Amino acid sequence: MLIGVLALQGAFREHVEMLRRLSVQTREVRKPAELIGVDALIIPGGESTTMGKIGRANGLYEAIRALAQAGRPIWGTCAGLILLAHDIGPEPPHLDLMDITVKRNAFGRQVASFEADLDVPALAELGGDAGSRPFHAIFIRAPLIAAVGAGVETLARLPDGTIVAARMRNLLATSFHPELTQDTRLHALFLTTCQT
Ligand code: GLN
Repeated sequence: MLIGVLALQGAFREHVEMLRRLSVQTREVRKPAELIGVDALIIPGGESTTMGKIGRANGLYEAIRALAQAGRPIWGTCAGLILLAHDIGPEPPHLDLMDITVKRNAFGRQVASFEADLDVPALAELGGDAGSRPFHAIFIRAPLIAAVGAGVETLARLPDGTIVAARMRNLLATSFHPELTQDTRLHALFLTTCQT
C-alpha cells in the first residue's frame, strides 16, 4: 500500500510521520505524475487559498478528481477539508468532491486555535477499545462543517453540536489536525478504507 500526501504547503510532514509510525509507505505529491500508483491521498492542513492556486495551475486538481472518481480514498484535514468541499461560502469551491457546506475560519480570531476531546464512535471500527476513548483534537483557524448532504455521515461534533468530522463513500474530512497529536487512530481508520 502506498499513501500519497499532498505536499504543496502546510502540515504534510506530520502526516508522513504518522503514516510511518503505522508502517505505511508514503509519497509526497507535488505534481500530477506523482499520483500515479498511489492507493489513497491525504490533503493536509495549511492555507487552502495557497494550495488551491498551486493545484489549479499545475493540473493536480484534475488528477485528484480522477483519483476520487476511481474510488480511491481521500482524507482532507483542515484546509484539506476546505479543498474537498462542495460549498465554501462566497468563493468558488476547489475540488468540489464532497457534499458538505463549510465555513472557513469559523471560530473567530480570539479563539482561532483551541483543543477539544471529541467522541468519535466510528473509531470502534478499529476493534478493541479504540472507540471508547475520546480523540484529542487540535483546531487551528479551523473550518466548521455547517451542513452535510444526504450521503454524508457525521463522525464527530463539538459539545455545541458543530460538525467537525464527516465521511462520504471514499472521502473523509476532519476540521482538526490528528497529525499534530500522538494519536494514530484516525490515520488507522483512514487506512482501513485503503486496503487494496
Ligand atoms: N484557515 C485555513 C484556510 O482557510 C485552514 C487552517 C488550517 O488548515 N489549519 O485555509
